[in-house]
Amino acid sequence: MRYISTRGQAPALNFEAVTLAGLASDGGLYVPESWPQIGADEIAAMATQPYVDVAVTVMRPFVAGALDDEALRDLCAKAYGSFASDAVTPLVQLDPQHWLLELFHGPTLAFKDVALQLLGLLFERFLSNRDTHLTVVGATSGDTGSAAIEALAGKAKVDVFMLHPAGRVSEVQRRQMTTVLADNIHNIAIEGSFDDAQAMVKALFADQAFAGRYAVSAVNSINWARLMAQIVYYFYAASRLGAPWRSVAFAVPTGNFGDVFAGYAASKMGLPVDRLVVATNTNDILHRALSAGDYSVGSVTPTDAPSMDIQVSSNFERLLFDLHGRDGVALAKAMQGFEADKTLTLSQSMRGDAASLFVSKAIDAKTMAAGMKWAAKRADEIIDPHTAIGLMAGYQLIEKGGAPCVTLATAHPAKFPDAVEAATGIRPTLPARLADLFDKEERYVTLPATLRDVSNYIAQRATPKP
Ligand SMILES: *Cc1c(COP(=O)(O)O)cnc(C)c1O
Repeated sequence: MRYISTRGQAPALNFEAVTLAGLASDGGLYVPESWPQIGADEIAAMATQPYVDVAVTVMRPFVAGALDDEALRDLCAKAYGSFASDAVTPLVQLDPQHWLLELFHGPTLAFKDVALQLLGLLFERFLSNRDTHLTVVGATSGDTGSAAIEALAGKAKVDVFMLHPAGRVSEVQRRQMTTVLADNIHNIAIEGSFDDAQAMVKALFADQAFAGRYAVSAVNSINWARLMAQIVYYFYAASRLGAPWRSVAFAVPTGNFGDVFAGYAASKMGLPVDRLVVATNTNDILHRALSAGDYSVGSVTPTDAPSMDIQVSSNFERLLFDLHGRDGVALAKAMQGFEADKTLTLSQSMRGDAASLFVSKAIDAKTMAAGMKWAAKRADEIIDPHTAIGLMAGYQLIEKGGAPCVTLATAHPAKFPDAVEAATGIRPTLPARLADLFDKEERYVTLPATLRDVSNYIAQRATPKP
């Protein structure tokens, strides 16, 4: 399989190169040159298969040329062996029409583990026969940082520099990052906001001298391999609920449009997806884009679902590429306009195309809390704020008595105990395997929010290109 850039100028790459590169050199994102097809027989067989078998069938065409079946199976078995549930992503029924797909049984209790556990192993394998030493630099408001650190701790030839805003991530989130003491993990608390940290990471990637000296790489969801790993659980869930003979709807709490884009990919590959519900919190750029064609950046309002407090959804560009008829030159022009004006309008026909699969809803704080309460009272399930947003949007948009609707449960409720307790009266507790989190030693440095301090710190510790 070859991968092409959404902006049409960067060279096409194979799977190995696309995994190590992250962003394309023309500023675009890599997408597969074509969508592989999974046949009805293969989908039917998945209904009784373990997760790893489904994973091999779904990812095989994407990794062709880089990994054979045996290597892919070994990596998946290792990645998903670290999950606390044998099902890896268990389905839990809420009522006759609604299910949760629990994606939070990985080491850091967020769905990001599903992709990052595999990505860490892919990095390790692809670097093992190269001279290159990877320098991963990222900014996090919580979940991505801990999932990336957990996936890359102790991996040879990778150094991780993770910036978080000092005092502005929850104690659980901070400790999940800072108690990982492996030598290749460098936690940096920035005396500033998440936006300051993010801006510094962007500046480092754009710095020619820095990028020339170090092989810098990203682990956020612009990395194709992450999205690929997320396609698997759509097949896993739908096949268990009657696909290929019945189509299934998914409600997806969305921030960067990564998780829901994986659902779009599943549909393109032949999975009968009834609808994809794009659920946002009050930071509703994606809802405005899909419902009214208005993709324009507002200011970010902090909510109790912080992993969705996003105004520019990087992966939306991948959908825009298809809506522009896969014309990279046309999309590059549109994205330059968006970067300059902070606004982009979707034409009537693009909106029509998107509406054949996507519906959307912005869920406010009150409705989100009502969702947590309903799940606790009526279905005896404690869910986190992000999941509640997906659930409520699914309930409102999927026709009663229609397709079965699966809400992606993206975080364990114990990651957000205050919001859950306020809504339900029940304080969720950390699973036993994380119970000693508050007794462990922490390691991190605190640096001023200046590019010079951060780049000096990294330069003293990273390994330059050979
Ligand atoms: C990252 C995250 C999301 C948003 O996922 P995207 O792929 O960015 O849309 C939703 N919920 C939780 C708990 C997350 O950590």
